Amino acid sequence: MSGHLAVVGLGPGDARYLTAEAADALAAAQALYGYAPYLDRVPAQAGQSRHPSDNREERARAAAALAHAAQGGRVAVVSGGDPGVFAMAAAVCEEIEGGPQSWRAIELVVVPGITAMLAVAARIGAPLGHDFCALSLSDNLKPWALIERRLDAAAGAGFVIALYNPVSRARPWQLPRAIERLRRHLPASTPVVFGRAVARAGEEVRVATLAAAHEEPADMATLVIVGSRETRVIARSGRPPLVYTPRAAEVSA
Ligand code: SAH
Repeated sequence: MSGHLAVVGLGPGDARYLTAEAADALAAAQALYGYAPYLDRVPAQAGQSRHPSDNREERARAAAALAHAAQGGRVAVVSGGDPGVFAMAAAVCEEIEGGPQSWRAIELVVVPGITAMLAVAARIGAPLGHDFCALSLSDNLKPWALIERRLDAAAGAGFVIALYNPVSRARPWQLPRAIERLRRHLPASTPVVFGRAVARAGEEVRVATLAAAHEEPADMATLVIVGSRETRVIARSGRPPLVYTPRAAEVSA
Protein backbone atom coordinates (compact mmCIF):
# COMPACT_ATOMS: atom_id res chain seq x y z
CA MET A 1 0.00 0.00 0.00
CA SER A 2 2.22 2.79 -1.20
CA GLY A 3 -0.46 5.46 -1.79
CA HIS A 4 -0.48 8.60 -3.86
CA LEU A 5 0.21 12.20 -2.89
CA ALA A 6 -0.37 15.18 -5.17
CA VAL A 7 0.96 18.59 -4.11
CA VAL A 8 -1.28 20.93 -6.03
CA GLY A 9 -0.85 24.62 -6.92
CA LEU A 10 -4.14 26.53 -6.97
CA GLY A 11 -2.77 29.68 -8.60
CA PRO A 12 -3.30 33.17 -7.19
CA GLY A 13 -7.07 32.94 -6.69
CA ASP A 14 -9.39 33.15 -9.67
CA ALA A 15 -10.50 29.64 -10.74
CA ARG A 16 -9.51 30.45 -14.32
CA TYR A 17 -5.89 30.41 -13.15
CA LEU A 18 -6.21 26.79 -11.99
CA THR A 19 -4.64 24.45 -14.54
CA ALA A 20 -6.62 21.55 -15.96
CA GLU A 21 -4.07 19.17 -14.41
CA ALA A 22 -4.65 20.73 -10.97
CA ALA A 23 -8.43 20.45 -11.35
CA ASP A 24 -8.05 16.76 -12.27
CA ALA A 25 -5.74 16.10 -9.30
CA LEU A 26 -8.22 17.75 -6.90
CA ALA A 27 -11.16 15.80 -8.32
CA ALA A 28 -9.27 12.50 -8.03
CA ALA A 29 -8.30 12.98 -4.36
CA GLN A 30 -10.04 11.14 -1.53
CA ALA A 31 -8.61 13.52 1.05
CA LEU A 32 -7.58 17.18 0.84
CA TYR A 33 -5.07 18.83 3.18
CA GLY A 34 -4.21 22.52 3.28
CA TYR A 35 -4.37 25.95 4.89
CA ALA A 36 -8.09 26.55 5.48
CA PRO A 37 -8.58 29.59 3.16
CA TYR A 38 -6.93 27.68 0.29
CA LEU A 39 -9.11 24.61 0.90
CA ASP A 40 -12.15 26.91 0.78
CA ARG A 41 -11.30 27.64 -2.86
CA VAL A 42 -11.74 23.98 -3.81
CA PRO A 43 -15.35 23.06 -4.65
CA ALA A 44 -16.86 20.49 -2.28
CA GLN A 45 -17.07 16.96 -3.60
CA ALA A 46 -19.07 14.06 -2.13
CA GLY A 47 -16.96 11.39 -0.45
CA GLN A 48 -13.87 13.60 -0.17
CA SER A 49 -12.56 14.35 3.32
CA ARG A 50 -11.07 17.76 4.20
CA HIS A 51 -8.30 18.41 6.69
CA PRO A 52 -7.80 22.16 7.12
CA SER A 53 -4.89 23.44 9.16
CA ASP A 54 -3.36 26.72 10.25
CA ASN A 55 -0.92 28.64 8.04
CA ARG A 56 2.11 27.98 10.21
CA GLU A 57 1.60 24.24 10.47
CA GLU A 58 3.26 23.30 7.19
CA ARG A 59 5.47 20.51 8.54
CA ALA A 60 2.68 18.90 10.55
CA ARG A 61 0.33 19.19 7.56
CA ALA A 62 2.89 17.59 5.23
CA ALA A 63 3.51 14.75 7.71
CA ALA A 64 -0.22 14.13 8.18
CA ALA A 65 -0.81 14.02 4.42
CA LEU A 66 2.14 11.63 3.94
CA ALA A 67 0.95 9.36 6.75
CA HIS A 68 -2.50 9.30 5.16
CA ALA A 69 -1.11 8.50 1.71
CA ALA A 70 1.18 5.80 3.18
CA GLN A 71 -1.93 3.94 4.30
CA GLY A 72 -2.89 3.60 0.65
CA GLY A 73 -5.00 6.74 0.26
CA ARG A 74 -5.18 9.14 -2.65
CA VAL A 75 -4.32 12.44 -1.01
CA ALA A 76 -3.87 16.02 -2.25
CA VAL A 77 -2.15 18.88 -0.40
CA VAL A 78 -2.99 22.31 -1.76
CA SER A 79 -0.88 25.48 -1.93
CA GLY A 80 -1.71 28.95 -3.19
CA GLY A 81 0.15 29.89 -6.38
CA ASP A 82 2.80 27.30 -7.18
CA PRO A 83 3.46 24.61 -4.55
CA GLY A 84 7.21 24.80 -5.19
CA VAL A 85 7.52 28.53 -4.46
CA PHE A 86 7.79 29.15 -0.70
CA ALA A 87 5.11 26.52 -0.18
CA MET A 88 4.14 22.92 0.47
CA ALA A 89 6.22 20.96 -2.06
CA ALA A 90 9.46 21.66 -0.17
CA ALA A 91 7.77 20.93 3.18
CA VAL A 92 6.65 17.54 1.82
CA CYS A 93 10.17 16.78 0.55
CA GLU A 94 11.64 17.72 3.95
CA GLU A 95 9.26 15.31 5.67
CA ILE A 96 10.01 12.53 3.18
CA GLU A 97 13.75 12.98 3.74
CA GLY A 98 13.41 12.87 7.53
CA GLY A 99 10.51 10.42 7.73
CA PRO A 100 10.03 6.64 7.63
CA GLN A 101 11.28 4.66 4.63
CA SER A 102 7.67 3.82 3.68
CA TRP A 103 7.10 7.50 2.72
CA ARG A 104 9.67 7.14 -0.08
CA ALA A 105 7.45 4.51 -1.71
CA ILE A 106 4.54 6.95 -2.06
CA GLU A 107 3.84 8.09 -5.60
CA LEU A 108 4.47 11.83 -5.35
CA VAL A 109 3.25 14.25 -8.00
CA VAL A 110 3.83 18.02 -7.83
CA VAL A 111 1.28 19.91 -9.91
CA PRO A 112 2.54 23.41 -10.78
CA GLY A 113 0.47 26.57 -10.50
CA ILE A 114 0.77 30.21 -11.51
CA THR A 115 2.89 31.83 -8.85
CA ALA A 116 2.09 35.30 -7.47
CA MET A 117 5.00 37.09 -9.13
CA LEU A 118 3.86 35.97 -12.58
CA ALA A 119 0.26 37.01 -11.92
CA VAL A 120 1.36 40.44 -10.63
CA ALA A 121 3.86 40.95 -13.47
CA ALA A 122 1.21 40.14 -16.07
CA ARG A 123 -1.10 42.84 -14.68
CA ILE A 124 1.39 45.68 -15.17
CA GLY A 125 3.38 44.84 -18.31
CA ALA A 126 6.63 42.89 -18.17
CA PRO A 127 8.70 43.82 -15.09
CA LEU A 128 10.25 40.31 -15.15
CA GLY A 129 11.16 40.65 -18.83
CA HIS A 130 14.88 40.24 -18.11
CA ASP A 131 16.89 38.44 -15.36
CA PHE A 132 15.10 38.35 -12.01
CA CYS A 133 15.04 36.53 -8.71
CA ALA A 134 12.55 35.83 -5.94
CA LEU A 135 13.15 36.30 -2.22
CA SER A 136 10.92 35.71 0.76
CA LEU A 137 11.17 38.50 3.31
CA SER A 138 10.01 36.19 6.08
CA ASP A 139 12.70 35.66 8.68
CA ASN A 140 10.81 32.82 10.34
CA LEU A 141 13.01 30.20 8.66
CA LYS A 142 16.21 32.18 8.02
CA PRO A 143 18.04 34.98 9.82
CA TRP A 144 17.49 38.60 8.76
CA ALA A 145 21.24 38.97 8.14
CA LEU A 146 20.97 36.41 5.33
CA ILE A 147 18.04 38.29 3.78
CA GLU A 148 20.09 41.50 3.77
CA ARG A 149 23.04 39.73 2.19
CA ARG A 150 20.79 38.36 -0.56
CA LEU A 151 19.15 41.77 -1.14
CA ASP A 152 22.61 43.32 -1.52
CA ALA A 153 23.76 40.60 -3.92
CA ALA A 154 20.60 40.62 -6.02
CA ALA A 155 20.38 44.39 -6.38
CA GLY A 156 24.15 44.65 -6.89
CA ALA A 157 24.03 42.09 -9.69
CA GLY A 158 21.20 43.90 -11.49
CA PHE A 159 18.37 41.43 -10.88
CA VAL A 160 14.76 42.55 -10.71
CA ILE A 161 13.61 41.26 -7.30
CA ALA A 162 10.22 39.76 -6.47
CA LEU A 163 9.58 39.97 -2.72
CA TYR A 164 7.22 37.35 -1.30
CA ASN A 165 5.90 37.52 2.29
CA PRO A 166 6.77 41.23 2.60
CA VAL A 167 4.71 41.84 5.75
CA SER A 168 2.70 40.01 8.38
CA ARG A 169 1.21 41.04 11.70
CA ALA A 170 4.24 39.57 13.44
CA ARG A 171 6.72 41.08 10.94
CA PRO A 172 5.92 44.77 10.46
CA TRP A 173 9.46 46.13 10.00
CA GLN A 174 10.97 43.82 7.39
CA LEU A 175 9.63 45.53 4.24
CA PRO A 176 10.68 49.08 5.25
CA ARG A 177 14.11 47.75 6.20
CA ALA A 178 14.44 45.92 2.87
CA ILE A 179 13.44 49.04 0.93
CA GLU A 180 15.97 51.09 2.87
CA ARG A 181 18.63 48.48 2.14
CA LEU A 182 17.88 48.44 -1.59
CA ARG A 183 18.24 52.23 -1.76
CA ARG A 184 21.96 51.73 -1.17
CA HIS A 185 22.21 50.00 -4.54
CA LEU A 186 19.49 51.44 -6.74
CA PRO A 187 18.44 54.93 -7.89
CA ALA A 188 15.57 56.67 -6.06
CA SER A 189 13.56 56.54 -9.29
CA THR A 190 13.62 52.71 -9.54
CA PRO A 191 10.06 51.49 -10.17
CA VAL A 192 8.48 49.34 -7.45
CA VAL A 193 5.25 47.42 -8.14
CA PHE A 194 2.85 46.52 -5.33
CA GLY A 195 0.38 43.81 -6.34
CA ARG A 196 -2.25 43.02 -3.73
CA ALA A 197 -4.71 40.09 -3.85
CA VAL A 198 -4.13 39.70 -7.57
CA ALA A 199 -6.82 37.56 -9.26
CA ARG A 200 -8.92 37.76 -6.08
CA ALA A 201 -11.58 40.10 -4.71
CA GLY A 202 -9.94 43.39 -3.69
CA GLU A 203 -7.16 43.22 -6.27
CA GLU A 204 -4.99 46.32 -6.38
CA VAL A 205 -1.83 47.01 -8.38
CA ARG A 206 0.15 50.20 -7.76
CA VAL A 207 3.46 51.58 -8.97
CA ALA A 208 5.76 53.67 -6.78
CA THR A 209 9.39 54.73 -6.88
CA LEU A 210 11.96 53.25 -4.53
CA ALA A 211 12.20 56.68 -2.85
CA ALA A 212 8.47 56.67 -2.00
CA ALA A 213 7.94 52.90 -1.66
CA HIS A 214 7.79 53.03 2.15
CA GLU A 215 4.55 55.07 1.88
CA GLU A 216 2.70 52.29 0.06
CA PRO A 217 0.49 50.03 2.16
CA ALA A 218 1.37 46.33 2.02
CA ASP A 219 0.08 43.25 3.78
CA MET A 220 0.31 39.45 3.68
CA ALA A 221 -1.55 39.34 0.35
CA THR A 222 0.91 41.72 -1.33
CA LEU A 223 3.76 40.83 -3.64
CA VAL A 224 6.37 43.52 -4.30
CA ILE A 225 8.49 43.69 -7.45
CA VAL A 226 11.53 45.98 -7.22
CA GLY A 227 12.89 46.92 -10.62
CA SER A 228 16.52 46.95 -11.73
CA ARG A 229 18.34 49.98 -13.15
CA GLU A 230 16.95 48.97 -16.52
CA THR A 231 13.28 48.75 -15.55
CA ARG A 232 11.14 51.42 -17.20
CA VAL A 233 7.70 52.99 -16.72
CA ILE A 234 5.64 53.98 -19.75
CA ALA A 235 2.98 56.60 -18.90
CA ARG A 236 -0.24 56.29 -20.91
CA SER A 237 -3.10 58.75 -20.96
CA GLY A 238 -6.33 57.26 -19.67
CA ARG A 239 -4.65 53.93 -18.93
CA PRO A 240 -2.49 52.66 -16.12
CA PRO A 241 1.27 52.85 -16.69
CA LEU A 242 3.22 49.94 -18.11
CA VAL A 243 6.24 48.72 -16.18
CA TYR A 244 8.73 46.63 -18.10
CA THR A 245 12.31 45.46 -18.11
CA PRO A 246 13.86 45.44 -21.60
CA ARG A 247 15.22 42.14 -22.89
CA ALA A 248 18.75 43.49 -23.38
CA ALA A 249 21.17 44.74 -20.69
CA GLU A 250 24.73 46.12 -20.46
CA VAL A 251 27.52 45.23 -18.02
CA SER A 252 27.21 48.56 -16.19
CA ALA A 253 23.58 47.89 -15.21
N1 SAH B 1 3.19 29.52 -3.22
C1 SAH B 1 2.76 30.90 -3.32
C2 SAH B 1 3.56 31.83 -2.43
C3 SAH B 1 3.41 31.55 -0.95
S1 SAH B 1 4.20 32.78 0.03
C4 SAH B 1 2.87 31.34 -4.79
O1 SAH B 1 3.49 30.64 -5.58
O2 SAH B 1 2.32 32.39 -5.14
C5 SAH B 1 2.84 33.89 0.31
C6 SAH B 1 3.09 35.22 -0.39
O3 SAH B 1 2.79 35.09 -1.77
C7 SAH B 1 2.25 36.38 0.08
O4 SAH B 1 2.77 36.98 1.26
C8 SAH B 1 2.34 37.32 -1.12
O5 SAH B 1 3.61 37.96 -1.14
C9 SAH B 1 2.32 36.33 -2.28
N2 SAH B 1 0.97 36.13 -2.85
C10 SAH B 1 0.26 34.98 -2.83
N3 SAH B 1 -0.91 35.14 -3.49
C11 SAH B 1 -0.93 36.43 -3.95
C12 SAH B 1 -1.87 37.20 -4.73
N4 SAH B 1 -3.02 36.67 -5.16
N5 SAH B 1 -1.56 38.49 -5.01
C13 SAH B 1 -0.38 39.02 -4.59
N6 SAH B 1 0.53 38.32 -3.86
C14 SAH B 1 0.26 37.06 -3.54
